[in-house]
Amino acid sequence: MPAHDVLILGAGLAGQRAALAAADAGASVAIMSKVHPVRSHSVAAAGGINAAINPADDWRSHAYDTVKGSDFIGDQDAIEVMCREAPHEVMHLEHIGVTFHRNETGALDLRAFGGASTKRTAYVADITGQAILHVLYEQLMKYHERVDRYEEWFTTSLLQDETGAVSGCIARDIRTGTLEIFTAKNVILATGGAGQCFKPTTNGLICTGDGIAQAYRLGAPLMDMEMVQYHPTCLVENGFLITEGARGEGAHLLNANGERFMEKYAPNKMELASRDVVSRAEQTEINEGRGVGPGGVGIYLDITVVPKKRTLEALREIVNIGKDFAGVDITREPILIRPGQHYIMGGVKTDIDGATPIEGLYAAGEVACVSVHGGNRLGANSLLDTLIFGRRAGEHAAQRAAGMAQPKPAAQQARLNDEQAWVKSIIDRPQTGRRIAEIKDELGTEMNRNVAVFREQAGLEHALEVVRRLKEEAKTAYVDDKGSVFNQDVLGAIELGYMLDCAECTVVAAIERKESRGAQFRTDYPERNDEVWMKHITLSRNGGDSPEIDYAPVTITQWQPEERKY
Ligand SMILES: Cc1cc2nc3c(=O)[nH]c(=O)nc-3n(C[C@H](O)[C@H](O)[C@H](O)COP(=O)(O)OP(=O)(O)OC[C@H]3O[C@@H](n4cnc5c(N)ncnc54)[C@H](O)[C@@H]3O)c2cc1C
Repeated sequence: MPAHDVLILGAGLAGQRAALAAADAGASVAIMSKVHPVRSHSVAAAGGINAAINPADDWRSHAYDTVKGSDFIGDQDAIEVMCREAPHEVMHLEHIGVTFHRNETGALDLRAFGGASTKRTAYVADITGQAILHVLYEQLMKYHERVDRYEEWFTTSLLQDETGAVSGCIARDIRTGTLEIFTAKNVILATGGAGQCFKPTTNGLICTGDGIAQAYRLGAPLMDMEMVQYHPTCLVENGFLITEGARGEGAHLLNANGERFMEKYAPNKMELASRDVVSRAEQTEINEGRGVGPGGVGIYLDITVVPKKRTLEALREIVNIGKDFAGVDITREPILIRPGQHYIMGGVKTDIDGATPIEGLYAAGEVACVSVHGGNRLGANSLLDTLIFGRRAGEHAAQRAAGMAQPKPAAQQARLNDEQAWVKSIIDRPQTGRRIAEIKDELGTEMNRNVAVFREQAGLEHALEVVRRLKEEAKTAYVDDKGSVFNQDVLGAIELGYMLDCAECTVVAAIERKESRGAQFRTDYPERNDEVWMKHITLSRNGGDSPEIDYAPVTITQWQPEERKY
């Protein structure tokens, strides 16, 4: 049975950064991922990473922009940590080999991004996540004596010892179907987001909220789950992302009358207002009949105003996406986009060292909610969040492990037997229930219909009813593959359960928050209400089958809430 000081579940940017930090701090480390690490979803990150690197910039300005972007419910202690430590982290990435774009003077080039008061986004063309992820993976190779890698292993549950502290996990070797217990003094969840609860989404198929649901099932509180980001520029055909970097380079948004309609909604920042503001503006134009394309369901993103040479150099990936997935040459004609689900601000509640309220359990990256994003994440702040809080969680977990005995998960053999029986029972289900893909499709469509840019009570209640019915149906959904080798079908059934837990929490929190703030816009409560709702919503299972609601205070250090205008 493998035993480590620190076991990291997830090998995207948060997980890999945590692994390197924990190993540097002297811990024995294992990192586990259900896909090969460089296929983690971080590889899709395009536009860049924020840091106040320019001498004329200041981390406080970055922090203020982030607080304002969050619609004032981001926790300011965490935001200060992230923005203060950002320049050092980005320089560290450069030193270990990330080839950030440089300008003609040789300095790191910075591009404009939404909600930022100055250019502060470092980038590698529009493949920034891929560039960073590959460099971190190279570093992990160098650490092979201190970091054990379990690639293509799927964590099914977390384990606790008799005191309730997290003490490891059970995981399935995807290649063979064998289940095994891993013990650890600390577990760091770095399992990414839950975008697959929505259809369409910019997120990959692996973003099924596994870690969020596993922590929730153990009793860890989730926070800010109602805050779901719709990105303003996703392809109408399939939801693929066109990076905000395009607008950062100067692209325009146009309605059916050819107007740059953002003048009406955000006259100062125009297309570079924060994402919630731009997505709402687009959806309003579409709803009021000024949309473009078939059925008027889209908006034009006009990248032809960016010099072609610059587009080919700095936005080359979306040139390919435009051609391959929409049949459009973006250097010659506008491309049809609309708002699409992209990111979840909520997740497992942590402190600024990634620690959750459950002893021995940490979380970092999109799975976590330290609340640096609050009601709305600024573009290019997520990569930063993964790296800063991944590193801090790794360091903190390593410190906690020092001098501690290896825990004994309670009744481990019995737990393993139960888990084996559970997985087998899923594989053995009779072919009478619904198909997994069908349930997933209904979930995503319902969430995208009623838990999207605009929300209201009746729609949310309908969504909750659907999610709860689908939870029941998922219990008998059948899998076609009865084998053990690479049985993705059975993993799909397990992931569906995780997604339904996440979706239920999102809808319950969205019903609870009776105001409009950040990504949560309630047409029946269109105003922000600081008097009542200047607080986080937390959700815990507490032994029951559905989430119990509680609240957590918002940490304010130096910026009092004010009217938010761009
Ligand atoms: C198209 C796109 C473009 C983006 N562009 C940017 C950008 O330019 N800048 C920015 O700041 N942000 C961007 N983002 C957001 C950002 O990329 C993500 O929020 C971030 O990369 C998440 O990283 P992570 O390490 O938390 O998780 P991921 O990179 O999603 O990694 C999750 C890991 O967990 C593993 N895992 C999950 N479940 C299990 C399980 N049950 N068992 C074992 N392993 C498991 C996976 O295999 C994977 O290794 C973008 C997002 C998208 C979708």
